[in-house]
Amino acid sequence: MSEIHKFLFEGVPVRGVLVRLTDVWTEILRRHASGGVDRAYAGPVQNLLGEMLAAVTLMQSNIKFNGALLLQLFGDGPVKLAVAEVQPDFGLRATATVIGTIRPDAGLGELVDVNHQGRCAITLDPTDKLPGQLAYQGVVPLSDGGQTKLERLSSVLELYMRQSEQLDTTLVLAADANMAAGLLIQRLPASGSGSLEVHEDYKRIAMLASSLKQEELLTLDAETVLRRLFWQEKLLRFEHLVGDPVPHFSCTCSRERVEKMILGLGTAEVQDILAERGEVEVGCEFCGARERFDAIDVAQIFKAGL
Ligand SMILES: [Zn+2]
Repeated sequence: MSEIHKFLFEGVPVRGVLVRLTDVWTEILRRHASGGVDRAYAGPVQNLLGEMLAAVTLMQSNIKFNGALLLQLFGDGPVKLAVAEVQPDFGLRATATVIGTIRPDAGLGELVDVNHQGRCAITLDPTDKLPGQLAYQGVVPLSDGGQTKLERLSSVLELYMRQSEQLDTTLVLAADANMAAGLLIQRLPASGSGSLEVHEDYKRIAMLASSLKQEELLTLDAETVLRRLFWQEKLLRFEHLVGDPVPHFSCTCSRERVEKMILGLGTAEVQDILAERGEVEVGCEFCGARERFDAIDVAQIFKAGL
């Protein structure tokens, strides 16, 4: 079962979240691999996508945003696009588009930032948007000020939190074929947080958190991780309540959305596809669902859409 553990440090304005995604993560990988032979992600892509999934789960549980939270990497290497998305009820999905070969030990830079053109975007898309309201999006480059490349997703996201949210954050992310996991430690934007003492408290806790190795995060249970890291701190754990949302797979795609997309393509283009293939088939990259539309379906879409 996938787990989310939230905690505070007593007397210190620092909070934390630990997530371990198991069933939902293996389902995402299974759905992707079932799309055909040689479809399974190469190791480094799989691990990057898992870290992204753990990251969005950490962020959603941290800010409790009433809408979709999306993390996207727009890459200029073999990974063209990687997306992880979380809903307010912790419905999760993720996918990556890869073109080309991946070396077994390829790092973040080699995957998505070969020519320093890679970008990381975080989008908050409210569920109940007011008329004219747009989703909020923040973008950070994958290179730290163009000087040194950031080789870990956690560093990119820490930079994002500092730049766009002005929040000191420490992240440890890890993933393999069975688990996507993460630890987030964040300084609360409390009043008087500028004092030296608070700064020292945060620094100490952040250092403890960053001493966590990826392998430990993937192999130790949550209790052991928290005890080993913070045994000298006073940890206040949030209890799990019945009905608390549990991370699970969910895809927000629908036939209706594909119909809108077909409408957006315009009659000429859709007629070309129909002439060539006899039908329009659209597959969902996230869940693998396929929607088919024949000439009659298409005619109805355009009739209804006009
Ligand atoms: Zn889908």
